[in-house]
Amino acid sequence: MHVNTHAVTDCVIVINCGSSSLKFALLPMAGESIHLKGLAERLGTPEAVLHTEHDGIKRQNRIPHATHREALQAAAGMMEGLRPRAIGHRVVHGGERFTGAVRIDDEVMAAIGQCASLAPLHNPANLTGVKTARELFPDLPQVAVFDTAFHQTLPEKAWLYAIPRSYYEKLGVRRYGFHGTSHHYVALESARLLGKPLEQTNIITMHLGNGCSACAVRNGRSVDTTMGLTPSEGLVMGTRSGDVDPALHQFLQDQTGMRLSEITAVLNSQSGLLGISGLSNDMRTLADAARDGHQRARLAIDVFCYRLAKSVCGLMAALDTIDALVFTGGIGENSAGVRSLTIAQMKIYGVIIDETKNTSHGRNDRGVISSAESRIPCMVVPTNEELMIARETLRLIS
Ligand code: AMP
Repeated sequence: MHVNTHAVTDCVIVINCGSSSLKFALLPMAGESIHLKGLAERLGTPEAVLHTEHDGIKRQNRIPHATHREALQAAAGMMEGLRPRAIGHRVVHGGERFTGAVRIDDEVMAAIGQCASLAPLHNPANLTGVKTARELFPDLPQVAVFDTAFHQTLPEKAWLYAIPRSYYEKLGVRRYGFHGTSHHYVALESARLLGKPLEQTNIITMHLGNGCSACAVRNGRSVDTTMGLTPSEGLVMGTRSGDVDPALHQFLQDQTGMRLSEITAVLNSQSGLLGISGLSNDMRTLADAARDGHQRARLAIDVFCYRLAKSVCGLMAALDTIDALVFTGGIGENSAGVRSLTIAQMKIYGVIIDETKNTSHGRNDRGVISSAESRIPCMVVPTNEELMIARETLRLIS
């Protein structure tokens, strides 16, 4: 398959590399829409497949046993008519070292490798993406955009765990926060919609997708967030438990004989919406089932929304004033029911939803889904992490 364009278009390639997957998107340098995007998954297995989407047309190509390099090569083969000028990589963990995006060189790669103990599933995979892209496109500048960077402005009282300080000093045990690229993008978009400079914008953003986190943004900067040392802390997610009693691991080990790694796997991949409902980690499936009377699906949604409301109310402590509560991510952007149920549990703050606006996801009202009487406006602001990575990449290479 080739992309047919008459004029050559200068593009930024955005890469998000996982251990057995590689997501990519091409964004024209002049403009903000995604030109071509794709996902190669199950890499290294006989079932490896490349899904692509160009101008709304979806395609699937089998690429049995393909490596990351071969997947990226296959993607590059589709870029006829497009001239890649730079590559932006999503990197999950930047530790305390990276407070913003950076141009990638050997030293930066080594530093990303050093953060791998904090994100053993993600950083090595992200590095594979960087190495592969450097091999295939040796002349293009490459940029790393970190999930943690936006949260490096947290004050110490927000990032320090109440455990002996030596664990922080020796091992870097502290709260880092994730989804930073999304929270940052949504903060910028919210400021624009509110008609305020980012530096004067105070909001709480809720990124609700397969992973979920909320963030308190004070004068445009992240000052607290629900995820911590790892993306397991905080809200209820698709398959992750979020916060549990720190004594839970010991209890389960004593009672069941499970190993620590098994308990961690249960909390990461069999918990959350899936664990409560026993049915699915997918909010759409749960909403349909709840409508049909599935009690545990209903309960999963109830727990999800209650815990979210409770966390958002907690994040209010980080702000003196608030311009809006902002929903984003697959669930936040699309589930009127989740938004409604969450907001209904914040009555004490005088938050009132407008169900007509909510049902249309705020699309006709500059994102607003709350009523004129609401003491805090509520909004839906679609996230766009690829665009944010492309923008950061362009900023750094120009
Ligand atoms: P993300 O990780 O941002 O792609 O979000 C994935 C989550 O969004 C899944 O739980 C989906 O079920 C949920 N989602 C997507 N579309 C809808 C929808 N129309 N209604 C409810 N949930 C949705």
